[in-house]
Amino acid sequence: MTEASLREEIAAYGELLTGLGLAHGSTGNISVRLADGWLITPTNSRLGRLDPARIARLDQDGRHLAGDPPSKEAFLHRCVYEMRPGAKAIVHLHSTHSVAVSCLAGIDADDVLPPLTAYYVMRIGRLPLIPYFPPGDERLAAAVRQVAARHAAVLLANHGPVVAAGSLDAAVGAVEELEATARLFLLLRGEETRPLTAEAVEELERRYPRA
Ligand SMILES: [Zn+2]
Repeated sequence: MTEASLREEIAAYGELLTGLGLAHGSTGNISVRLADGWLITPTNSRLGRLDPARIARLDQDGRHLAGDPPSKEAFLHRCVYEMRPGAKAIVHLHSTHSVAVSCLAGIDADDVLPPLTAYYVMRIGRLPLIPYFPPGDERLAAAVRQVAARHAAVLLANHGPVVAAGSLDAAVGAVEELEATARLFLLLRGEETRPLTAEAVEELERRYPRA
């Protein structure tokens, strides 16, 4: 895909995520890896109203080369790209149900959501919770770097999900699945539930390895 078509694709998915109610105000950012750097949505931009030509272009070390200034959360994307060579796109959102789960007391920080459905296991798998740090804090980058090699998706406490995948379409599909599962989890709180068994999860992991 050419850089121009990737820019168009980022804008189209930004509009989709906004239409789904997953990106309010100027929250959320999308990036796509290029051969020699990456594209990321600009700071203070609305995902639903992106101008493809103004999407920021960065080099491999995260230096701004072209377009509007990049999202202040670009460092999160950089940490994940460094740790996951197979990652081609990353979506970060402040989507309501995922953020709600990230604020709950007493959740398992190694595996935040139970395996309620097969699609959740196939697209997300185990979801670790990254402890809260103020935006831009170096410790947040270090905490993400520590788990990113083992997990394509992480949930930042009191903040939101960061999801990487082998294509932008797959990253958007995974973050939608995560948001839907967070919603199911909240709907089922207080109910006796039957998550998938450990054997069922193992079989899915074997059959459908993630990028
Ligand atoms: Zn954020």
